Amino acid sequence: MQLSGKTAIITGSNSGIGLGIARELARAGADVVLNSFTDRDEDHALAREIAEETGVTARYIKADMSKGEECRALIEQAGRCDILVNNAGIQHVAPIDAFPTGKWDAIIAINLTSAFHTTAAALPMMRKAGWGRVVNIASAHGLTASPYKSAYIAAKHGIVGLSKTVALETAQEPITCNAICPGYVLTPLVESQIPDTMKEYDMDRETVIKEVMLKRQPSKEFATVEQMGGTCVFLCSDAAAQITGTTISVDGGWTAL
Ligand code: NAD
Repeated sequence: MQLSGKTAIITGSNSGIGLGIARELARAGADVVLNSFTDRDEDHALAREIAEETGVTARYIKADMSKGEECRALIEQAGRCDILVNNAGIQHVAPIDAFPTGKWDAIIAINLTSAFHTTAAALPMMRKAGWGRVVNIASAHGLTASPYKSAYIAAKHGIVGLSKTVALETAQEPITCNAICPGYVLTPLVESQIPDTMKEYDMDRETVIKEVMLKRQPSKEFATVEQMGGTCVFLCSDAAAQITGTTISVDGGWTAL
């Protein structure tokens, strides 16, 4: 299998895109470490499910990505890190003059600073192993902006810049660092917003999806977590060995507008 013998750590992977990426990396043969800030039976059950489905070793390690020391401890506790996917993220929407400072701090910490800590802790392991891939999950909002999402957009633009810097610092080593920029992805979180939006706009499901949620996504289709996982597997392949310091948009044409 393409990634057998590699260990992948995916932050924020007990749901949505992170879980989808973990599943695809496991299907490609990588051992996976799932993570979030909770420590519930169902978190560990997800790892068991992936192990049973794919035959790889899968573990769940609790670590709060808003805390620098826990970000570093996640990597140390995993013991090995060939593939690091910085995916954990939260969102808050408010005009900047009403944006709560606590929300700003949490978004910058979880969506951006965590990647600084995990990357710093993982690079020595990658260098020791002689191979490494850092994949940062940014967003179409890492390349464009929308009103009322100041912290999220600052963090996502920041992680695109961080990806370029890490790529330059590792350019002459067998290590790459890139950012995936998803458009709107159908995750359980997004799915759960559909009924309320249907009520708010008095529209049927299809119209809400096409005219409200996917207003800026020219394909008028959600991207899927499997597509994010597949892009990640591609970035870990030999074909992508010279792809570093760049962004890959998986956004149905959003950033072409
Ligand atoms: P999600 O809410 O399903 O996933 C977020 C993950 O981060 C969850 O596993 C959650 O437990 C974890 N997390 C949150 N706070 C954490 C913390 N303090 N410590 C550790 N883990 C924490 O949402 P998602 O849509 O799957 O988002 C995943 C990533 O993809 C985020 O970075 C998000 O910004 C990005 N993204 C999502 C979309 C989309 O349309 N869904 C689009 C572009 C980018």
